[in-house]
Amino acid sequence: MRKRTDTRKVMVGDVQIGGQNRVVLQTMTLGRTKAIDETVQEINRYATSGADLVRLAVLDMEDASAIKYIKAQTSVPLVADIHFDHRLALKAIASGIDKIRINPGNIKREADVKAVAYACKDAGIPIRIGVNAGSLPARIEAFHGRTATAMVESAKQHVSQLEAHGFEDIVISLKASDVRLAVESYMLAADTFSYPLHIGITEAGSKERGSIISAAGLGTLLYHGIGDTIRISLHAPRHEELDVAKTLLSAYGLYTMPTVIACPTCGRLSYDMGPLLAKVEAYLQNHPKPLKVAVMGCAVNGPGEARDADIGVAGGHGEGLIFIRGKIIKKVPQEKLFEALVEAIDNFK
Ligand code: SF4
Repeated sequence: MRKRTDTRKVMVGDVQIGGQNRVVLQTMTLGRTKAIDETVQEINRYATSGADLVRLAVLDMEDASAIKYIKAQTSVPLVADIHFDHRLALKAIASGIDKIRINPGNIKREADVKAVAYACKDAGIPIRIGVNAGSLPARIEAFHGRTATAMVESAKQHVSQLEAHGFEDIVISLKASDVRLAVESYMLAADTFSYPLHIGITEAGSKERGSIISAAGLGTLLYHGIGDTIRISLHAPRHEELDVAKTLLSAYGLYTMPTVIACPTCGRLSYDMGPLLAKVEAYLQNHPKPLKVAVMGCAVNGPGEARDADIGVAGGHGEGLIFIRGKIIKKVPQEKLFEALVEAIDNFK
């Protein structure tokens, strides 16, 4: 596994994307931005769940104007998602937004793209160029088909448009619902641009399917050191997007959080392991210690299988063995196992 560390650094509020920075976590609000109180509550909830940036849909001038009041009540940097009308971008910038996401392909007039580039430059904020496989320019798609080359050619065109105005605070995304197309596009983009890449799989689906699809695609990219900021798109509550993103990043050592591992169980299982596993997962969800805790089905193989766990439990007949760093330290009745694990977790040094 390698880390692509040579990407240009871009500031979004007080969050830096690119270079050797950690992968920045993003999500997006669900409601209309103009519903200020609800939007503020959403943003603050996501910030508490670990979002480094939150994106807002800006559909009209009321949404764009609301940003000023939302900014006053939130502290996480905000990104305005703009399509078609460059005046919404200009209003969002005037309202204090920290980053603009546009698809220059659907802002037709060159003068309008130029106006947005200059306004962002004056405000010191970056632009994400969001290329999407579903809305490639017809000429590019006719020539290259719906391929990674077409995705990157489209990005190149938009990058050149901004660079022509002396604008280089750029982040690029190349989203597709086809995982292979997304992976190939990002890999080609990583070889083509030094700008930071926002990685994601679009329309990934429900939590179960979307998590698997996103892990398959984005995991491949992360393994190759590609990805400066990430959004997992799920049709699910937003905190679940953030949980999936954190779990994926932690699998590659790119995010520090507590981990619960569990054996799949087999005929050797001899205690009621499921409820214990659920309680331990819930207890560790926001625990400050990034411990690895193992919940294992039996004492025959449990401690050995979970050798690299900090703390673990292995079931026996109506009881369990608590082990720390692979060494069994005590035997506890089944009904006291959770309390014993909590004590071990809280006292772990
Ligand atoms: S730890 Fe024990 S119960 Fe779990 S899978 Fe291994 S042998 Fe089976």
